[in-house]
Amino acid sequence: MLTYNDLVKPSVLKQPIYQPGRPIELVALEFGLDPNEVIKLASNENPLGVSPKALAAAREALASIAYYPENDCYFLREKLASVRNLAPEQLIFGAGSNEIIQMLGHAFIEPGVDVIMGKSAFISYKLFTLLFGGNAIEVPLIDYTHDLKGMAKAVTANTKLVFLPSPNNPTGTWNEEKEIFNFIHEMPDHLVFVYDEAYVEYIDNPPDLRPLIAAGKKIICLRTFSKIYGLAGFRIGYGYGNSELIDLLNRVRPPFNVSSIGQAAALAALDDNEYVEKCKALNQSGMKQLEEGLESLGYEVVPSRANFLLVRFENSDKVYQYLQVKGVIVRPLKGYALEEHLRISVGTEEQNNRVLSILAQYQK
Ligand code: PMP
Repeated sequence: MLTYNDLVKPSVLKQPIYQPGRPIELVALEFGLDPNEVIKLASNENPLGVSPKALAAAREALASIAYYPENDCYFLREKLASVRNLAPEQLIFGAGSNEIIQMLGHAFIEPGVDVIMGKSAFISYKLFTLLFGGNAIEVPLIDYTHDLKGMAKAVTANTKLVFLPSPNNPTGTWNEEKEIFNFIHEMPDHLVFVYDEAYVEYIDNPPDLRPLIAAGKKIICLRTFSKIYGLAGFRIGYGYGNSELIDLLNRVRPPFNVSSIGQAAALAALDDNEYVEKCKALNQSGMKQLEEGLESLGYEVVPSRANFLLVRFENSDKVYQYLQVKGVIVRPLKGYALEEHLRISVGTEEQNNRVLSILAQYQK
């Protein structure tokens, strides 16, 4: 008898599976811990949670849950267009920016297409490239940082997409505006530059690619409500670029892909700048606390501009397990070619203290 494996597209059998940070409830169950005592610093979420205003809007939106969501995110689109000084047609929304990466795959990647990315870049670029049958061209990082010169050299006639996350996940490193602009200016016009700004709200004066988009460069920028806005559970993110590109992505976008509650929460979150500033400040002080604490324990950390730190351990597996047993979930990085490292998200002051004091007791 034939099995499903005989029927499925052969590429699916080779497709790697995304490995998320482990959820609190499962870790608590496995190690017999109280879930209220377990802390998750594994997925770069907002340790303060969602803004109270966004939560209130989400609760209100629950009343209309029997209706399909607004298919084009009308109100959110109008709001974001005015906040970001873009035309509404320049925006596309997804169930997280992950879904927009998937849409880029649908629209541009097929067998024979080269997609350029950093070797230890956010893994979805590689996963979606493989899913659509493209070649993932992974350019090694230099000092944990994307090597834009190396990426420019890797461009071929078959390159359709180049991904640059800045700051990058999981390294936290960034590229300067000048370097990015030079790269874009020299880029041939048969490819799209995908600039992933998932952690942009944590940095001061980030590079602004809107003038280059207005000048007709082939660029899409990706942002998310999963990080500083604390809406990871609702799955909502967006992309902005030239309206012709957005129009093409809309053709491959599934209907009703963003939930009505997510749309309402994101709309309200955009109005709560005070909350965003508070989260940014907490991240800055927490980053300093974690970085200094880890360094004083003798660990090597990579300078980060995001809301997490990449830390090198002699035996990262052992440290990961040790922290987990003590109720702290961090992120191992096997799929990222960073076997010796763990990624630790910045938590509240209390959470950071807890990680540091547990590590202080760890026998190296
Ligand atoms: N880009 C980067 C660099 C990320 O780290 C993440 C989340 N881990 C995403 C995109 C996707 O986030 P989401 O799908 O939650 O919007």
